[in-house]
Amino acid sequence: MSHLEADCLFCKIIRGEIPSYTVFENDDVKAFLDISQVNPGHVLLVPKNHLVNFFSYSPEDAQRYLQYIPTLAKAILKSNARFTGMNVMTNNGQVAGQVVMHSHIHLIPRFPDDGLTIPTRNNAAKYDQAAYEQIANDIKQSLEVS
Ligand code: 5GP
Ligand code: ZN
Repeated sequence: MSHLEADCLFCKIIRGEIPSYTVFENDDVKAFLDISQVNPGHVLLVPKNHLVNFFSYSPEDAQRYLQYIPTLAKAILKSNARFTGMNVMTNNGQVAGQVVMHSHIHLIPRFPDDGLTIPTRNNAAKYDQAAYEQIANDIKQSLEVS
């Protein structure tokens, strides 16, 4: 049985209280069209348990819920001859752009000249070997104690 929360938008969609255009569903996950359709075919993959974001996942959760990403990605890609690529992304935390606090993975199909720009920047010029080493060591240390 899934752990759902009364006031959560995606729990309401999972319970069927809010309609959605579902493309795949089983006991563990539901995949449905994102209302915004950043590009046509934009799908959200959502665990049926109310996990807030990746920071709430155990390794078992990851295995259980994320295994559907490649299958879904390939099905979406095949669904429209124009699609030639896809951005698979998840916003974790408000500062990262997460608005709905129930974990979800965006699958956004891409086609040539679709006009979508995923923001990025290159700060390589600001980093030397010591700076890279410091950052990598901090993360490695954090992994050792987790
Ligand atoms: P986030 O910014 O949290 O990563 O993404 C939340 C997503 O949920 C947005 O892309 C938004 O369009 C989508 N969304 C918000 N409300 C609804 C809704 O009622 N139904 C569906 N299908 N998607 C929604
Ligand atoms: Zn929820």
